[in-house]
Amino acid sequence: MSNIPHYTRSKSRHGMKQNQTIAEKIAEKMRAANNPDDDAPANRKKKGFKRSHIKIEYEGENERLNEDWNESKQLKTVDNPAIWQPVYWREQLENIQEMRKNQDAPVDTMGCERTADTAVGPAVYRYQILVSLMLSSQTKDQVTSAAMDRLKTHGLTISNILKTSDKKLGELIYPVGFWKRKVEYIKKTSTLLESQYDNDIPSTISELCQLPGVGPKMAYLCMNIAWHQTTGIGVDTHVHRISNRLKWVKSTTKTPEDTRKILQEWLPRSLWIEINWLLVGFGQQICLSVSPKCQQCLNNHTCLFGKANLQSKKKKRN
Ligand code: SF4
Repeated sequence: MSNIPHYTRSKSRHGMKQNQTIAEKIAEKMRAANNPDDDAPANRKKKGFKRSHIKIEYEGENERLNEDWNESKQLKTVDNPAIWQPVYWREQLENIQEMRKNQDAPVDTMGCERTADTAVGPAVYRYQILVSLMLSSQTKDQVTSAAMDRLKTHGLTISNILKTSDKKLGELIYPVGFWKRKVEYIKKTSTLLESQYDNDIPSTISELCQLPGVGPKMAYLCMNIAWHQTTGIGVDTHVHRISNRLKWVKSTTKTPEDTRKILQEWLPRSLWIEINWLLVGFGQQICLSVSPKCQQCLNNHTCLFGKANLQSKKKKRN
């Protein structure tokens, strides 16, 4: 996006210092990962962790970076698989927080928690969050937000939606992705909520996932936003893509659900809610699905995907 500022890189709390040897960098990363204040489940198992001997001398920056990742892999598999954490995650997270500090991505003003009406009472608010999440699948935030505005003007309550014809509901939510199927899901879900949940939404992941059209990503986000409970990380396409690019997963994951499980193994629970919002906005503005803006990304010195992307662009120019 043309209005995205170019950022000045600042050394983070655990950032790399100039003139450090690779061994020192790795040692520093591991000390950071061993921070006792960190509440990651993996960190609680770290006592007794023995750092491997590291001896590396490489000339090229890419080789050094690759070696960092390889050493990280070796440490996790040789010493204790339970303690695995991506070697640069703290620095990368702090850079993303810096890049997201203006809070000017579509998700910041049109995310699901922004589209529900807080003045309608808690149960109706929760229903609206659920409907917003159902609409948001395969749909841009702007389109979801506009559909939610039309639904709220029409009257977005369970009883009113059940009185609304499928044709009218389709007109209200069009052009969200798969709108015809979503009409069916919203109607069936509303029927279940009225008959089985006393016009409220379920408060557990397993019950939410049994509703038509509701999968794990929606369920975890719904627990976070509607019930204010941290039960898991909401992993959508942005979180899935960026986690793989930054190597926040041990090996490439095929599905968002696989990514969620790995992230939850090492990411401190205190970040589980924030991470979705951070990465979604980052994915909307900089780490785009197609043509990510690696040139202006603060993580382009530790992201192998970004480095390869920049090198390929450079080759094309030459
Ligand atoms: S360097 Fe590029 S691919 Fe890597 S996180 Fe930044 S924008 Fe995404």
